[in-house]
Amino acid sequence: MLNCEASFLEKRKMEEKYICPECGAEMKETYNKPSLLLDCPKCGCKIATTKWDPIDLDQTIYELFVEKIESPTLDNLRFISSMTGDNYIKTKQDLIEGNISFKYCAVDMKEKMKEFDNNNIKYHIAPEFHY
Ligand SMILES: [Zn+2]
Repeated sequence: MLNCEASFLEKRKMEEKYICPECGAEMKETYNKPSLLLDCPKCGCKIATTKWDPIDLDQTIYELFVEKIESPTLDNLRFISSMTGDNYIKTKQDLIEGNISFKYCAVDMKEKMKEFDNNNIKYHIAPEFHY
């Protein structure tokens, strides 16, 4: 499930400095996510590569803790149980006790936060999530 590490080293290599391999001049960047086009103003050399934001390089595993819900609605149960795979009875119990958390890497966390927000589920995240 957690694929954060997969291409980390590969990404890291490309993180900074765009120097023309032909003449050593600094290349001009045109960033059109996720593609980065490099143009050498001196010799006209062109390179297409890929650039990543800090969040893409963040390998931290974050944990999202669902806040207690005293009276979970059917929508709450449906949403949470679709994520845990547990039945509604267990999900309801866990929600009442505040026993539910999920682990994601940064990129996935940002996506999941939208889902939780859309479902009006309150949560907090540890460690602190900056994105
Ligand atoms: Zn050049």
